[in-house]
Amino acid sequence: MMSIPRTNPAMTSLPSSQDTRPERIILHVDMDSFYASVEVQRRPELRGKPVVIGSDPKEGKGRGVACTCSYEARAFGIRSAMPVSQAYVLCPHAIFLPPDFDYYSRISGGIMELLRSTGFRFLQVSIDEAYLDLSPCGSFGAAVSLAGQIREDLQSRFGLTCSIGIAPGKTVAKIASDFHKPNGLTVVEPGDIRAFLAPLPVNKIPGVGKKAELHLLELGIRTVGDLAATDIQVLLGRFGRGAVSLHALALGNDTAELEEYDGIKSLSRETTFDSDTDDPARLMSSLNALAVAVHQALEDEHCRCRTVTVKIRYQGFVTRTKSRTLLHMTGNAEPIRACSQELLREMYDGRKVRLVGIRLSSCEKPDPCQMTLGI
Ligand SMILES: [Mg+2]
Repeated sequence: MMSIPRTNPAMTSLPSSQDTRPERIILHVDMDSFYASVEVQRRPELRGKPVVIGSDPKEGKGRGVACTCSYEARAFGIRSAMPVSQAYVLCPHAIFLPPDFDYYSRISGGIMELLRSTGFRFLQVSIDEAYLDLSPCGSFGAAVSLAGQIREDLQSRFGLTCSIGIAPGKTVAKIASDFHKPNGLTVVEPGDIRAFLAPLPVNKIPGVGKKAELHLLELGIRTVGDLAATDIQVLLGRFGRGAVSLHALALGNDTAELEEYDGIKSLSRETTFDSDTDDPARLMSSLNALAVAVHQALEDEHCRCRTVTVKIRYQGFVTRTKSRTLLHMTGNAEPIRACSQELLREMYDGRKVRLVGIRLSSCEKPDPCQMTLGI
């Protein structure tokens, strides 16, 4: 295990294991206090100051929560999802800014494009977090160099820092990216996973929430090392089958693979015509109705999306699809409708159509605090 400083990240220096050729190398990147950093980047006068992104604290009487805060604000004890009234008490002179999600989405789009352009398998998991499968790099050393390049590119193009974890599996890569924030790079090589995880509190494992943490504590389990030392039968008795992968992880087996998928989820709606049609007006009006329906589904899920796909099934069940990725995440109906129309026009070849459909993918749910704010 080692941590490599590139642009002055916080670092740990732990003995590295022998240089093995790993089967899998997964990188997890997480932007540092993303919304706050983006605001500081566009308003340099905020640099070095405690900045809180959230609703107006109204001198301590405001409702709502802080979405993100700068590291300077964290020094006062302010945290994400904390009520702004409490944040105000902790630091009345902090600069409270309303969130500008459209802007953050645009910056996120650029960041994700940069990561995607590396050509490795890519998986975006939130507005400021993504995985890359760097297994084709062939060695952790090569992966670390690439991570350094990514950090430099993100810094020079967006003026933003990130924290990166590199490990043989997704779960450990995510835990590692959180290990040294901000601006950290933590590498956990195969064979070091167990030693890396052992001292960490169990709530560092993604998916172990407050409730599970309490149950574990009742069994005397505080750290991942305690978890590893616990008989699997005891865990099965308390948690059921879910305990299997948790215990395996504690023992150093991170089996979570990176599967490229369309984001958190995709949504689709389609219409089969009563009789096959080649009437362009009818096709277009059906498509518009589908755009309304699929946008409604997106709203119902409190999601935004980035990719629009139109499907046409012609007579004889020949099916064609065409996709386009929007410039940035959207929760609005108009870009979805316009993009669908464009795709249909480009794809439609005049034959009789049996079915049309629209699918929205690369969907993501904004942070819970965004919903609290009603945005
Ligand atoms: Mg982040």
